[in-house]
Amino acid sequence: MVILLAPWETVGMKKPHMVIVEETNGLPVRGTCSACVDVFFSTGAPIGTIEAHQSKLDSLFREHFRNVHMREDASRATARVVRESTQDK
Ligand SMILES: [Zn+2]
Repeated sequence: MVILLAPWETVGMKKPHMVIVEETNGLPVRGTCSACVDVFFSTGAPIGTIEAHQSKLDSLFREHFRNVHMREDASRATARVVRESTQDK
């Protein structure tokens, strides 16, 4: 298995990121989320360029990130604000 290094992986932290799990003909055709083991992104037929497949996986992951992790972050941030404001009293 080959894991391609994506730019966002250099950011570090425990932020969920996309992991390529399958390549066909040298093309990344299947990816998953580092935080969600049951989530997979597929680009479909292994034709075209590596860049096209990466950007497809990238946009699928971003959509997943928005739907799942941005929401988590928002609710966690809200919880922290509530906790901080109650501690002051
Ligand atoms: Zn995820």
